[in-house]
Amino acid sequence: MNKPAMPNSFRTGPDEQGMFGIFGGRFVAETLMPLILDLEEQWNKAKDDPEFKAELQNLSTHYAGRPSKLYFAEGLTKHLGGAKVYFKREDLNHTGSHKINNCLGQILLAKRMGKKRIIAETGAGQHGVASATVAARFGYPCVVYMGATDVARQSPNVFRMKLLGAEVRPVTAGHGTLKDAMNEALRDWVTNVEDTYYLIGTAAGPHPYPELVRDFQSVIGTEARAQMLEQEGRLPDVIIACVGGGSNAIGLFHPFLDDSQVRIIGIEAGGRGLDGVEHCASMNAGKPGVLHGNRTYLLQNGDGQILDGHSISAGLDYPGVGPEHSWLRDSSRVQYEPILDDEALEAFQLTTRVEGIIPALESAHAIAHAMKIVPTMDKDQIVIVNLSGRGDKDVHTVAKMLGMEI
Ligand SMILES: *Cc1c(COP(=O)(O)O)cnc(C)c1O
Repeated sequence: MNKPAMPNSFRTGPDEQGMFGIFGGRFVAETLMPLILDLEEQWNKAKDDPEFKAELQNLSTHYAGRPSKLYFAEGLTKHLGGAKVYFKREDLNHTGSHKINNCLGQILLAKRMGKKRIIAETGAGQHGVASATVAARFGYPCVVYMGATDVARQSPNVFRMKLLGAEVRPVTAGHGTLKDAMNEALRDWVTNVEDTYYLIGTAAGPHPYPELVRDFQSVIGTEARAQMLEQEGRLPDVIIACVGGGSNAIGLFHPFLDDSQVRIIGIEAGGRGLDGVEHCASMNAGKPGVLHGNRTYLLQNGDGQILDGHSISAGLDYPGVGPEHSWLRDSSRVQYEPILDDEALEAFQLTTRVEGIIPALESAHAIAHAMKIVPTMDKDQIVIVNLSGRGDKDVHTVAKMLGMEI
């Protein structure tokens, strides 16, 4: 029952086993297997159901604020003096980033499956807040697993989740960060199979999560492609997005994958440089391995232990990456480049000053790469940068980096 491989298309994956080439799959405990298979079956039914699509569309429009704008960044374009830069404005969504796209889709799936309890993992707390938001909207109890280290350093988001009615469970295992929180959420899921829905926050995890998160986030690229055709009458030359787990990036990229004239660039967190361990560039400096139910590029030491990594932006601080990106990397359809903390910080400041838009530090990584290539391009060329979120959440980090007091 393998889907026939369609030659010359990058948009047909994953296969029936959830593989993108050698990446992906579902490496889970036997006890989780029935849940994963049930989720896959329900998702396959839901995605073609007009009622499901209509409800998601309605919430996307009236609750999240879609479609998000495709904005010509004239100030940045003038400043850089090369190709025209456009921003896809995911920062304008309810809760301030692209994460709500995925959360709305998955909460509707949970409702359809008759699940009564939502669990989620979170690193910096952005996905935790988005999950707590949709759980509040639908009246479900919500438990968010968060590394104890992250709980301590992200107190405003912890408080937001509590206001929204969620329970935040600090995870002390490992280094108390996102990887450990995700392990704990998977454990909860196995023990509460009957009533619980696990709302994963990025395009990673066991199949079918990478596929379904991608499909919910693809609204970004589908809109951007149509908006570009309407505003400029043609496709862009380059599209750029930052890659943590890879959900905003695959959401922008997927609808463009078969447009061979469009160059596609994913930006990883280069942190303090790729020489040591203080980065999160799993595809530029990692090796394939298995984590959180799928095979993908991972930050590992010589013994195969997963490293924690580092980035100035908490949202890019994941030691793995969604499996579809690993496959797109090895197929050379998408190019993945690192951007350093300092470069992201500079892009953050420049965008704020010349556009009057405070970008998320994650998104600032994508802008920083645009700053490198745009001046080398012609004035009639076009670059789209995915502005995955707004930077209000990052002002404390930025103040500290700049040695300033708030
Ligand atoms: C969480 C987050 C990211 C990284 O997650 P992806 O799954 O890689 O998209 C990027 N930008 C913002 C604003 C985020 O909140």
